Amino acid sequence: MPRGVYKRSKEHKQKMRLIMLGNDYASNIVYTKELREKRRINSLGKNNPFYGKHHTESNKQVMRQVNQGNNNPNWKGDNASSQSNHAYVRRNYPPNGNCQSCKKQIPNDYLELANIRDDRVCTKNRNDYQYLCKPCHRKLDNIIRNTKR
Ligand SMILES: [Zn+2]
Repeated sequence: MPRGVYKRSKEHKQKMRLIMLGNDYASNIVYTKELREKRRINSLGKNNPFYGKHHTESNKQVMRQVNQGNNNPNWKGDNASSQSNHAYVRRNYPPNGNCQSCKKQIPNDYLELANIRDDRVCTKNRNDYQYLCKPCHRKLDNIIRNTKR
C-alpha cells in the first residue's frame, strides 16, 4: 500500500471498512489512559523496535528530499504570499554583500530584496528582484510610485 496522501476509491473504502468490522480486537479496543501508558512503557528503551539502530546517512538524505520544494504538502507554488516568496528568493539566492545599484559594500543583513517588476507582482524568480541598500530601495520605490501616476 502506498504511503502518504492518496485517493481512496469507494470500493477501497468499503473493503477497508469490512476488514475493520471483522477485526474484533481493533473495533472493541478502548484507548484508556492506562492502556496508552502501558503501551508507551512497552516500547521504551530496549523494547523499542528501533533501539540501538540508526538511519543511514543516505536514508536521511532521502527523507530530507522527499518533502522538499513542490513535493511538500504545504507548497503553494504561485499562490504563495509575497513574504514567503521574498524568503524563498533570499534563501536560494543569498546576497553577496553589495548593493546592486550603487555597488556599496553592505552587510547582507542590511541589504533589502527589492521587487523590480513594473506590475509589483511577487514571484519566486530571482530576476524579478535586486538586492539594494535602504537609500537605493527608497529611491527605486519612489521612482516607481511617481511614474505610475
Ligand atoms: Zn545602494
